[in-house]
Amino acid sequence: MSYYNEYVLVVEDDMQIRNFICYALNSEGFRYITAGTGQGALSLLVSEPIDLMLLDLGLPDVDGMEVIRKVREWSEMPIIVVSARDQDKEKAAALDQGADDYLTKPFSATELLARIRVALRHYYKQGGSRTQAIIQVGGLRIDFNKRLVYLDNQELHVTPMEYNLLSLFFKNIGRVLTTKYILKEIWGVDYGSDTQVLRALMAGLRRKIEKNPAKPRYIVTEVGVGYRLVDE
Ligand code: CA
Repeated sequence: MSYYNEYVLVVEDDMQIRNFICYALNSEGFRYITAGTGQGALSLLVSEPIDLMLLDLGLPDVDGMEVIRKVREWSEMPIIVVSARDQDKEKAAALDQGADDYLTKPFSATELLARIRVALRHYYKQGGSRTQAIIQVGGLRIDFNKRLVYLDNQELHVTPMEYNLLSLFFKNIGRVLTTKYILKEIWGVDYGSDTQVLRALMAGLRRKIEKNPAKPRYIVTEVGVGYRLVDE
């Protein structure tokens, strides 16, 4: 299997290392794009269909850990941390934050490419696919990096719980989410049949996103099962 179509984001402020990585990617036929800062990386993640990220932890503006944390808000894309830091503590922290693998400088092109192939294979095996940082359904838009919600281009003030609920739906557009599943994802525990707490949260959210909460256009009720964000 070849990965010639994969698009790799290289986040590295050291130009020598960046050139080395790009040269290696190029030799294998990967397409790539580069960023020298964390902010630059986050904006490219919004505008480009990135499949995998190679991330240096020591960036001039924000810590690489922060980049991992933000990306994991909305994407399960493979992240391979590339860093001079070889302490086990750093390594473990990056993996805990959601990185998939860790390369310590200096590394060979062969090792780099092998790790990329493994990460992509593992990701696709789990049924992974691209997620965008900003998704729009009708007039409703979510920005996962900024944790903001917009309705008809106006920023909407939602509570953290409402945001969590809405982002769960945006990660599952068009799919029916059962009440039990939502309770588990949002409250982190199995609330069993206590659906009252979800109904109250849903009512509050609908008042904000729906013109007519009694006849919802975005998140519809699947009677006896759960809810679904419509795929427009
Ligand atoms: Ca660096």
